[in-house]
Amino acid sequence: MSNNALAISNISYDYGNQAALNAVTFAIAPGQFFGLLGPNGAGKSTLMALLTRLLKPTSGDIQVFSRSLSAQPSAIMSDIGVVFQQSTLDLDLSVLQNLNYHGALHGLSARDTYIRVSDELHRFGLQNKRHARVRELNGGHRRRIELARAMLHRPKLLLLDEPTAGLDIESRAALNRHVRQLCEDHNIAVLWTTHLIEELETRDPLLILDRGTTKALGQADTLLKEH
Ligand code: ADP
Ligand code: ADP
Repeated sequence: MSNNALAISNISYDYGNQAALNAVTFAIAPGQFFGLLGPNGAGKSTLMALLTRLLKPTSGDIQVFSRSLSAQPSAIMSDIGVVFQQSTLDLDLSVLQNLNYHGALHGLSARDTYIRVSDELHRFGLQNKRHARVRELNGGHRRRIELARAMLHRPKLLLLDEPTAGLDIESRAALNRHVRQLCEDHNIAVLWTTHLIEELETRDPLLILDRGTTKALGQADTLLKEH
């Protein structure tokens, strides 16, 4: 048995008779930064929806740290941190309120929430924004808040669906560096979906998807030379 952070085996998903994913297979080791590259329509968001159980696979199996997602969904969700492409922050609440709410949802005590929220605000350079309402903050700040929130329950696997969408080039690079650092410092596995080659580094493991089908799976430098 492997002890992968994430193991996707032969996953297919059809919207009615429209196939969105076709027998996709890959695995992410603990602490690995894994890139999923694909143009619009590749199936990236569908895969995210399957991983967060918004959808159920038509066929195939998903394991998180060797446990089947369909068998133990709630146990597994505590291992996973998620940032969706569309922000799910409450725009009318402050940064602190958004984060504290997430702590409560995950059953953290008020004291643990306070300590962790303070840590995450510090980690993401958001201390001086903590009382601001999310509505008042720019896209780069919002992405950092989303990441801070996704980190709060200390997941070992981060699922990031185009986390740099809508950001300018500097914010994109900064967020990418930040996540790579997290990955390294805390041995967090990351699934980073993107349609931008420049967000990948030469040694990243990479899956290239196109219209639901695996185009290539391997190390980024090798694949990007070929495709
Ligand atoms: P990506 O996130 O890579 O752009 P998606 O997962 O959104 O790709 O889409 C994969 C395929 O599934 C596309 O052909 C898309 O049109 C189709 N699709 C996505 N959502 C739906 C839906 N709710 N109903 C029908 N088809 C869908
Ligand atoms: P200020 O510099 O604005 O006075 P403080 O750090 O003293 O900021 O905090 C202001 C309020 O926010 C206080 O009521 C404090 O308890 C609360 N607060 C600060 N950090 C957190 C946190 N991480 N989680 C929850 N509440 C917090």
